[in-house]
Amino acid sequence: MSSLQLAVVGGGPAGLRAAEVAASLGAKVTLFDAKPSVGRKFLVAGKGGMNLTHDEPPGSFATRYRSEGDPAEAPGVGTLSRWTSLLSDFGPTELREWAAELGVETFAASTGRVYPREMKSAPLLRRWVARMRASGVEFLMRHRLSSLEVGPAFSLGFDADGAPCRFNADAVILALGGASWPGTGSTGDWLELLRGLGVQVRPLQPANCGWEVEWPAEMQSLLEGKPLKNLAASAGGVSARGELLVTRYGLEGGILYALSHALREMSRPVLSVDFKPESSEVSLFGRLGSARRNYLEEGGVRWRLGETALRLLQYFRGGKPFASGEEAAHFVKNCPIPLRGPRPVEEAISTAGGVGFEQLDEALMVRLVPGVFVAGEMLDWEAPTGGYLMQGCFASGTRAGMGAFRYLASRRQ
Ligand SMILES: Cc1cc2nc3c(=O)[nH]c(=O)nc-3n(C[C@H](O)[C@H](O)[C@H](O)COP(=O)(O)OP(=O)(O)OC[C@H]3O[C@@H](n4cnc5c(N)ncnc54)[C@H](O)[C@@H]3O)c2cc1C
Repeated sequence: MSSLQLAVVGGGPAGLRAAEVAASLGAKVTLFDAKPSVGRKFLVAGKGGMNLTHDEPPGSFATRYRSEGDPAEAPGVGTLSRWTSLLSDFGPTELREWAAELGVETFAASTGRVYPREMKSAPLLRRWVARMRASGVEFLMRHRLSSLEVGPAFSLGFDADGAPCRFNADAVILALGGASWPGTGSTGDWLELLRGLGVQVRPLQPANCGWEVEWPAEMQSLLEGKPLKNLAASAGGVSARGELLVTRYGLEGGILYALSHALREMSRPVLSVDFKPESSEVSLFGRLGSARRNYLEEGGVRWRLGETALRLLQYFRGGKPFASGEEAAHFVKNCPIPLRGPRPVEEAISTAGGVGFEQLDEALMVRLVPGVFVAGEMLDWEAPTGGYLMQGCFASGTRAGMGAFRYLASRRQ
């Protein structure tokens, strides 16, 4: 096997995992990355505690993923079997065992989110890369992939710190990430390269991102940085529980991340927020007691709304008085917040769009270009925050690494 060369391009979690798997099976692996070092977004994730995966049974874990190519009438169905299969190669249990092998103990928080005990990603990355080097993976940094020629062998063209160079390989794994946080190396510059090979790629869009809200400067300065906890919200028939944060441009937070896809599908995105999810409209109305006017202001006290929630409700009501307590209670549980649009993809936590699964076989090999595999956020899938993104990268990296090894093995025979 050592005479056949595998090039892995992209040193995020997906590419690193793919390289690790292929090398452990016996492939000769060279890993390229445009940046001076690998795993820059992996390290950024570490700043938020590094939510590696989620403690959740495999059946419901797989339902967290969705792809644009899925049938609209049954969202998640195609995705479900695909992700059940990918996670059976390398799921949350395997990911935690893998971290433990590297000497990094993990724990599941009460939310189900799984973190390294130290809440950092740097020690994990350092040990991971050291182990890969020791197992023979060669790392070539500052190599930005600029072309890919298909022939008896693949010829990869790189911009190596301004100097063009070429590298030949018998198989290629592309794990170039999405287009968020381009400073970490993932710029989405691979779209044209793949389209040039005839591969259909869906445009990259922000997922798990903030949304802009039209409100005056005084609202911004008054409420910026203020959190809103324990909310429920819905958009396009999808519901979520969680938090929101008022930002300079609008709103950010877990609820919006969970509703990313539904909101992007709406021509005029509107978030319907329930500020009192634990109480019914009837009970809210009952607690208004003898109040006969200023229902919202009265409710602010009697419903314990909090100042930020009250101001937002007043703003989105637009000064129109409520005719009754019932109407005010209904509004508090169904406050429509029109959203101007998502923040730019560069600011998002992750990216939707990319290479559709219909372009790939089960091993994540591009059907049109046998020998080229794709893994990680380059693939067209999205999932909410909570460790599902990292897990998706590890699982698809595992599948691509195994697939590339088998492809090389079949060529040797
Ligand atoms: C702020 C932030 C916090 C996050 N926190 C979490 C979290 O806690 N949990 C979680 O599950 N997910 C988290 N994520 C998401 C997660 O980090 C990504 O989903 C994941 O890193 C994607 O992995 P990847 O390997 O597909 O791509 P990336 O990690 O983006 O890696 C792609 C690599 O390819 C290289 N590259 C790109 N183009 C080229 C080219 N042309 N030539 C050569 N190399 C190239 C890049 O330099 C980069 O190293 C977070 C993301 C952000 C932005």
